[in-house]
Amino acid sequence: MSADAGSRGGKVVEYKPLLDEAIRLSAHKPNSVLLVDRGLAKMAMTEGRDLLWSNLRDQHLNDVVPCEWVDSTHPSYTLYTSGTTGKPKGVQRDTGGYTVALASSIPNIFCGKPGETFFCTSDIGWVVGHSYIIYGPLIGGMATIMYEGLPTRPDGGIWWSLVEKYKVTVMFSAPTAIRVLKKQDPALLTQYDLSSLKALFLAGEPLDEPTAKWISEGLGKPIIDNYWQTETGWPILTVCNGIEKTPSKFGSPGKAVYGYDVKLLDDQTGEELTQPNQKGVVAIEGPLPPGCLQTVWGDDDRFVKTYWTTVPGKMVYSTFDWGIKDEDGYFFILGRTDDVINVAGHRLGTREIEESISGHAAVAEVAVVGVADNLKGQVAMAFAVLKDGSLLSDASALLKLEGEIMKVVDNSLGAVARPARVRFVAVLPKTRSGKLLRRAIQAVCEGRDPGDLTTMDDPTALLQISDLVKA
Ligand code: AMP
Repeated sequence: MSADAGSRGGKVVEYKPLLDEAIRLSAHKPNSVLLVDRGLAKMAMTEGRDLLWSNLRDQHLNDVVPCEWVDSTHPSYTLYTSGTTGKPKGVQRDTGGYTVALASSIPNIFCGKPGETFFCTSDIGWVVGHSYIIYGPLIGGMATIMYEGLPTRPDGGIWWSLVEKYKVTVMFSAPTAIRVLKKQDPALLTQYDLSSLKALFLAGEPLDEPTAKWISEGLGKPIIDNYWQTETGWPILTVCNGIEKTPSKFGSPGKAVYGYDVKLLDDQTGEELTQPNQKGVVAIEGPLPPGCLQTVWGDDDRFVKTYWTTVPGKMVYSTFDWGIKDEDGYFFILGRTDDVINVAGHRLGTREIEESISGHAAVAEVAVVGVADNLKGQVAMAFAVLKDGSLLSDASALLKLEGEIMKVVDNSLGAVARPARVRFVAVLPKTRSGKLLRRAIQAVCEGRDPGDLTTMDDPTALLQISDLVKA
């Protein structure tokens, strides 16, 4: 099922050509494609395959579709997510467990009640959208709002006008969106009647204290951080106010949610860290609670190897996040243990972007790192070595190449993965054994000390990057 196009910030994003190309590339082709014509773009229809919703709607308006009974372990969907390799993993979710997890989370975590309205500003293509635009609220007997648009169009009050209009009680968004709103007139936060709203939940990336304070004071509502992953499908850490009133702490998503046995483990020894404020890998003791992934689609071995065998000596699920726990049991998430970056709440593998950029014929080698950004949390920066080094002195050729490379990424991974900049260098910083020093590049980009460089093959490599960043 698809549509002619979507609309983003007043721009039409055509879907049909993307869909046709995806079907052309796929080994398993659908017999039929049902299309909604929203009147945004022209569609080229494929005879015998493409069907128009408007033609079929009247014919089937009163059809009763019987329930399809499936086992609780029947897969409900797969969502692809980034890891440290160039090959995204298909997170496979079951049906029964997921339903149980979401149904329990609506009253216990989100304090939502049947008959009320849930407004999640995510995109339905991401896990938060699956769980809390579609399934969670509807399973919990709540109405749900699907809103297509930016939080700033026509102005920064649009969301709050929807809260007033639909008497929203539970709202869910991401810190990046709030940082975008911070640039708008704060008076827009108080123009509408928000008396129905009980709390605003934020997830997907670290919630910085200034942003949390700004929105909480502006709205006069509790802000509730919650930490989870595509893999889990619902929160791992938060405060479950529906069970027991629990104060939030700025900078912490909260405590382990029921069903999750969350531990901090030493990454070298696998030992559990039991003292407060010790930094370790955030791990979950098996079995995972209902709702969490069953396996990696089509690759059980990869599921076990990736998630369950990285902590030495123990078979535990690794989140690949660093964390600490304070004396009151509140966790603080300190960032990823792997090469995954978080751009505006979207998880991207730097290796994936590197692989995509390497697909450009002019590129010999490339390093992609995540660099701190005030608005998006992190952005991707690419440093490429060209096959033809003489181009390095040709500024207009480099500008053209940067545009071309961004297009390559757009086409293979989508615009969210597009690096903020592609810079060109003669050589990349590596260890003598040839390992790319991504962390040193990242440190230089963020104006931090790159650390011990004695193992570096060519110290001038980092200087070049430092010069480019300063320029
Ligand atoms: P995704 O699977 O795209 O939802 O990304 C999951 C990753 O996002 C986690 O492993 C964390 O690194 C990060 N993340 C999600 N929620 C939070 C949060 N509330 N605080 C800090 N990091 C978060």
